[in-house]
Amino acid sequence: MTRWGLIGASTIAHEWVIDAIRAVGGEIASVMSTSAERGRKYADDHAVPKAVTTLDALVNDPEVDAVYISTTNELHRDQVFAAAKAGKHILCEKPLATSLDDARAMVKAAKEAGVILATNHHLRGAATHRAMRDAIAAGRIGRPLAARVCHAGLLPAHLQGWRLDRPEAGGGVILDITVHDTDALRFVLGDDPAEVIAFGQESGMATSGLEDAAMGAMRFKSGLIAQFHDGFTTPYAVTGFEVHGSEGSLIARNCMIQKPGGSVTLRTAAGEEDLTLDHRNLYETTLAAFDAAIAGKGRPLCTGEDGVWSLATGLAAMEAARTGNAVKIAPCP
Ligand code: NDP
Repeated sequence: MTRWGLIGASTIAHEWVIDAIRAVGGEIASVMSTSAERGRKYADDHAVPKAVTTLDALVNDPEVDAVYISTTNELHRDQVFAAAKAGKHILCEKPLATSLDDARAMVKAAKEAGVILATNHHLRGAATHRAMRDAIAAGRIGRPLAARVCHAGLLPAHLQGWRLDRPEAGGGVILDITVHDTDALRFVLGDDPAEVIAFGQESGMATSGLEDAAMGAMRFKSGLIAQFHDGFTTPYAVTGFEVHGSEGSLIARNCMIQKPGGSVTLRTAAGEEDLTLDHRNLYETTLAAFDAAIAGKGRPLCTGEDGVWSLATGLAAMEAARTGNAVKIAPCP
């Protein structure tokens, strides 16, 4: 059984990750918040025995085996360094950091400390994405040539905080959502992005020079081209993920979400077929793989290196949106 320390009294831990840890048999030993009062209340609300206010107290707790980092993005780096130094395994939220050098240094620190570092790109646990990946690997659409990811929606009112007005915290839709698209594309295609172009949009929600929607395209190493549309301000948009190949197309709907669900249709010369999907909680799938990895049985669903890839692509998309140029993506890590 893994005993967890939560770094950050966050919404995502409250909504998904605390339950997922417990569902796979883990225990939450402690939570760290910078506010003693809020931390105590959060601990009481979630039946967590200890609330601490310093990183040192959390990472040096002998009753903590692993930490889940879900603070704002500029804080992830030093929290990963401290956890690795204390010998704790780490599940870190995306984006891993706000700079590529920091993310690479985080991967290196975890490796040198001999601890697992995983990135919480939960969509790798989606039945839709796994079915698409399997179908492509089995050759069911021939050679993949193009992909489209629609990941725009409405940022809920309770999350309309730092994402919209704090560039230094890694706000903006690209570091929030485009990084998920990149990781989902890499996972489903088994291919890495090489170059990206993008436009950002300020459609009324974000301030401080941050984008609240973005649209762009990536070119992958195989030559495949992929479109993406991410947004916080379009409440009626439907999410989707399509991969079009020389012999068939995969069309997934309602699949860029946190809840289990969605559909995948395979279209070929033989007609249309809805793929059979084994829907499970995405975060539980991530946590179960993490537990197996720390027990020496396999890798996390999404590694630290995978987190470096998605951040590199997000940062390149931001640069592309700012400059109007296509930007090459540095090979990772
Ligand atoms: P929150 O805004 O809920 O929490 C971030 C920090 O803000 C917390 O660490 C906390 O500080 C502080 N905070 C939270 N609530 C309050 C409050 N009511 N008053 C004052 N301060 C507060 O962030 P999210 O949960 O939305 O995101 C956290 C991380 O998780 C980010 O890296 C984000 O990108 C990622 N994320 C990942 C998702 C996924 O599915 N993989 C989905 C959503 C987010 P303190 O710790 O000091 O208490």
